[in-house]
Amino acid sequence: MNIAFNGRRALVTGAGKGIGRQICVALAESGARVVALSRTRADLDSLADEIGCETIAADLADAGAAREAAEAAGEIDLLVNNAGISIPQSLLDTSARAFDETMAVNVRAVLLVTQVIARGMIARGRGGAIVNISSQASSVGIADHAAYCASKGALDQLTRVMALELGPHQIRVNAVNPTVTLTPMGEMAWSDPTKRSTMLTKIPLGRFAMPRDVAHAVAYLLSEQADMIHGVMLPVDGGFLAV
Ligand code: NAP
Repeated sequence: MNIAFNGRRALVTGAGKGIGRQICVALAESGARVVALSRTRADLDSLADEIGCETIAADLADAGAAREAAEAAGEIDLLVNNAGISIPQSLLDTSARAFDETMAVNVRAVLLVTQVIARGMIARGRGGAIVNISSQASSVGIADHAAYCASKGALDQLTRVMALELGPHQIRVNAVNPTVTLTPMGEMAWSDPTKRSTMLTKIPLGRFAMPRDVAHAVAYLLSEQADMIHGVMLPVDGGFLAV
């Protein structure tokens, strides 16, 4: 079973580092024309050198900038809402600012970018596919991750409503929910050796995810091989949620 995107245009947010970057590589390898959206220009330039993608630099925490960036992407067949942030703070210390910033990037930007891209898909009448990058943190409580867990729970619910309202337009919408993944974010949040080993003991496969593990699941969900899969939250977690 080969995944072939045959020149379809794919917009990936948070494309500069980590999971988003690996998704861009995987989609380009499968024949998609990638539009990479991220915050740091240098990351986008090095990705363009690597895979020959188009690039858009924008801060998705800014609602106006998020809409403008999505408009600038042009005609898009495949959308991956990957950009996300984590600001680890204990529940009692979670600041209003950190909470609002987390919700703005992890949830509001997904809504705003999707509105622009889905309107274009509907107008062209050829359907499309969307994958949101959620987390195992959407369905379990994780200490020091109050804002992050709340944002990913909200993202799963947003995914369900997107599936409900966009399905009739033949736009498939799914989420993938990774466990700890070895990216700059994963290293930042899980560098403490005790927290790291405690989390590892809860993953039956005994390892954290690699960005390519997530990218492969995303490529599958975007592909025509997943044509009847719609509205699911797919764990990519080595069995974390099974125990
Ligand atoms: P990462 O290593 O921190 O990379 C995130 C990328 O998104 C960076 O290129 C970053 O750009 C970009 N980004 C962040 N905020 C942005 C904004 N406001 N506007 C535009 N771009 C922005 O994160 P990751 O680990 O790859 O995470 C990717 C997704 O997977 C997130 O949604 C995250 O919640 C989810 N996830 C991660 C893990 C994990 O353990 N790593 C587990 C489950 C789910 P800059 O570097 O320029 O800010």
